[in-house]
Amino acid sequence: MMQFRRDTLLQKISDAGGPWDILIVGGGATGLGAAVDAASRGYKTLLLEQLDFAKGTSSRSTKLVHGGVRYLAQGDIGLVREALYERGLLLKNAPHLAHDESFVIPNYEWWGGPFYTIGLTIYDLLAGRLSLGRSKLISKKETLRRIPGIKSKGLYNGVVYHDGQFDDSRLAVNLAQTCVEQGGVLLNYFRVNGLIKENGKIKGVTATDQETNKEYRIAAKVVVNATGVFVDDLLAMDAPEHKPMVRPSQGVHIVLDRSFMPGEDALMIPKTEDGRVLFAVPWHDKLVVGTTDTPLNEHSIEPVALEEEIEFIIRTASKYLERQPQRKDVLSVFAGLRPLAAPSGDSTKTKEISRSHKLIVSASGLLTMTGGKWTTYRKMSEDIVDKAIEIGGLKPVACATRNLRIHGYQEIADQSNPFFFYGSDQEALLKLIDENKEWAQKINPKAPYICAQVIWAVRNEMARTVEDFLARRIRALFLDARVAIDMAPRVAELMAAELGKDDSWQKAEVERFTKLANGYLLSPYYPQVSDPVYAEAKNNHD
Ligand SMILES: Cc1cc2nc3c(=O)[nH]c(=O)nc-3n(C[C@H](O)[C@H](O)[C@H](O)COP(=O)(O)OP(=O)(O)OC[C@H]3O[C@@H](n4cnc5c(N)ncnc54)[C@H](O)[C@@H]3O)c2cc1C
Repeated sequence: MMQFRRDTLLQKISDAGGPWDILIVGGGATGLGAAVDAASRGYKTLLLEQLDFAKGTSSRSTKLVHGGVRYLAQGDIGLVREALYERGLLLKNAPHLAHDESFVIPNYEWWGGPFYTIGLTIYDLLAGRLSLGRSKLISKKETLRRIPGIKSKGLYNGVVYHDGQFDDSRLAVNLAQTCVEQGGVLLNYFRVNGLIKENGKIKGVTATDQETNKEYRIAAKVVVNATGVFVDDLLAMDAPEHKPMVRPSQGVHIVLDRSFMPGEDALMIPKTEDGRVLFAVPWHDKLVVGTTDTPLNEHSIEPVALEEEIEFIIRTASKYLERQPQRKDVLSVFAGLRPLAAPSGDSTKTKEISRSHKLIVSASGLLTMTGGKWTTYRKMSEDIVDKAIEIGGLKPVACATRNLRIHGYQEIADQSNPFFFYGSDQEALLKLIDENKEWAQKINPKAPYICAQVIWAVRNEMARTVEDFLARRIRALFLDARVAIDMAPRVAELMAAELGKDDSWQKAEVERFTKLANGYLLSPYYPQVSDPVYAEAKNNHD
């Protein structure tokens, strides 16, 4: 099995002996995709991520692999066709993580049925032979059967269409593993602080290992800026006076219990009061509802949902659901920032800013990618590496990712199996229990996860902190932040034993995670306040 261990990969930086062909800054969808593409073409590839893989926007999406029905309505046919093609490839190359999902548009207007059936038929046709199935008009009765929980009063009928759904941060981790299998090197908790230049041209980066604070000077033929909403920070390291490329737009989701909409199909509301679409999508054993589109003037790694965004989602969902969600029903709320290409004019309407990606080459040779979406990460990566070959004078090799299976590839993903998202890794994960029978036990009685998953994440998925595990190796923080808080002490204990950490590390990790997870809740939650760890976390929070 390939070695996806931080210490082994770290050693490869010291042993590199000469410049890297392609050095990628940022371990989200864009950077990880580029790293897989570059490594699979045989280039000497290094990716550095300042925190954890997918800690930024790439763990906070709506989890759709889609062409974007909305962009079709805006007439952006090229973008939709490209995304539908990529949707087909992702479902083919990572079937353990991405699957066909049926969406239902309920029509409360007489014209909705024919109107959306025609529009979505065009959507299907654009997918060509990678179509997931034809859209169709369904009766009122069938609509209520497929999405139980929606209001029946005033309902005419529904339109069913197909799109993909996936697990974003699991895909990120599997892409990182795929990159290593292809000969690349990646490190999390490794921050790029500066660019090394000779005669105005970039020759590498200076970076810090965040775990040891050790500084590195790393030489590279091409440096790729794949830092999402942070691209302007790197561009400023290159040329302090540069014009901003990104205008962040915040999107918020709330997570509810499945009992609000217990069917298997997702709900799509095509026109909200602000002219957007809203989704309610079954995800793992919960329902994800969102999203918003709020232009912001600043960016952060832990964006915070605005009160009006939460109110908007609850209000809109309440118009369609028979049982109206209340604030107390929200299990988790998460916000993400879209790295949209900044408009050239003064427009503040982000829904009108193109979602297509943009690749620019600075005078220094820095290659920056912005915009786009998870669905199109592979095509964006292909464009990045094609351009890197040109800039770095690398020997041209054709892209090899169209048919490249992603780590964990397994054709059948039975979602009722609690370990389905590990794909082909399931067997090895469960085998850990032979080493220690205790690892078969649940981490916490309130959730289905077992201790072996923590051990697996540390040994094979480069999880370094309690948050890495609870937020991105499994999705507990996003699915139910209170349960995640309850799990934290046991996770810290298991991780400490694997990583050789002491009690004070465990305590600090639980405290840090509890504080973070409280940011995903609408009202603070501290279990067993008598426990000194929680008491301390609470004091720091107040
Ligand atoms: C609310 C919302 C919903 C979305 N829904 C969907 C969807 O359903 N389907 C879809 O296809 N797309 C969706 N998207 C879009 C998609 O999530 C993004 O396009 C994609 O995740 C962007 O990835 P990225 O790699 O460019 O950025 P990021 O994921 O933000 O990655 C950038 C990384 O760079 C790192 N970094 C920054 N500075 C440095 C440095 N100096 N050194 C090292 N590392 C650094 C950051 O820590 C970060 O991890 C959604 C986006 C949002 C916000």
